[in-house]
Amino acid sequence: MAKILAVDDSTSMRQMVAFTLRGAGHTVVEASDGMEALNAAKGEQGIELVISDINMPNMDGISLVKELRAIPQFKFTPILMLTTESGTDKKQEGKAAGATGWIIKPFNPDQLLATIKKVL
Ligand SMILES: [Mg+2]
Repeated sequence: MAKILAVDDSTSMRQMVAFTLRGAGHTVVEASDGMEALNAAKGEQGIELVISDINMPNMDGISLVKELRAIPQFKFTPILMLTTESGTDKKQEGKAAGATGWIIKPFNPDQLLATIKKVL
């Protein structure tokens, strides 16, 4: 079981993700935008995985990935993008920034958990 940082500006989406993860036994830290996530990442010990939305106020998910990759302890942490963005350009941008994987909303809980298992 892992400690996971779940980032989304949509409260209902965040709750759904957190519910799915907690149901599988994971510990979840929630953040409502990239800025809050970055602060949580710096303040929390032992985050093993980040799942983030892309379109968010204050700091978007791609910028968050870049910021996290610049922190030594997050250099190799798996970061999954959970997004409605399915375009190749966005995916390339995410990959270049250092995102590990891509999950398209609306997500299937079993598929989300299987993807997490694969990258942990
Ligand atoms: Mg959003």
